[in-house]
Amino acid sequence: MTTKNRINEISSFLDEVFPNVGCELNYNKDYELVIAVMLSAQTTDVSVNKVTPILFDRYKTLEELANASLFDVEEIIHSIGLYKNKAKNVIAIAKSLVENYDGVVPSDKNELQKFPGVGNKTAGVIRAEIFRIPDLPVDTHILRISKRLGLTKKDDDPLNTEIKLKKLFPESEWIKLHHQLIHFGRYMCTARSPQCEKCKLAAFCNKK
Ligand code: SF4
Repeated sequence: MTTKNRINEISSFLDEVFPNVGCELNYNKDYELVIAVMLSAQTTDVSVNKVTPILFDRYKTLEELANASLFDVEEIIHSIGLYKNKAKNVIAIAKSLVENYDGVVPSDKNELQKFPGVGNKTAGVIRAEIFRIPDLPVDTHILRISKRLGLTKKDDDPLNTEIKLKKLFPESEWIKLHHQLIHFGRYMCTARSPQCEKCKLAAFCNKK
C-alpha cells in the first residue's frame, strides 16, 4: 500500500470513529486554558478538570491568581502529578500575563514558550485551541500511534514526529487530526490493550 493510500485510510477511519472531537480540558477564559494545558503534563485531562474549577473559583481573575498563595494553590492541585512545580508555574504564568501581556494570551509560539511549563507541545495546543492556528503537537498517544502505523521510526522523538506528520497530512487537517489521534490513543489504540479487533488499520499496523 502506498503512503498516500495509508494516509487516506487513517483519515477516513478516524473520521468514522471520531467525527467530532476536540479539547477535553474544561475552561472559560483563554488564560484558564493556558494553565489547564500546563497542568495536564504527565497527568490526565480528567484529573486536571477536577482541580481547575476549584482553582478558578477561588481565584476569579488573573490578578487574583497572580497574587495567590503558593501553599493554597498547592493544596488545590495536590492530586495531580508534579503539583509543587506546577503550583509555582500557575502563579508565574498569571504574573507574567498581567505584567507583560496586559492579561491577553499571546498567539506567538515563542512568546508562549516563555511561560514556565510551556514547551513546544503546550504552545501548539494553546495556539490551535484559542486561535485556531494549524498545528499538530505530539503527545504520548500520538507518538505511540505514529510508530505503530509506520508513519515514523522507532527512535523518532515528539518533535521529529510532529515534523513528519505535518509533511504527511494536509495543514487543514492538523488540528482535527491532533484531537482524533489523542482520542484514538485514549479510547481504542491504548498503550497496553489496544482494541485491534475493532480497528480498520490493522492491515498495516506494526504492532504484533
Ligand atoms: S491495529 Fe491495534 S495497535 Fe494497530 S493501530 Fe489499530 S488499535 Fe492500534
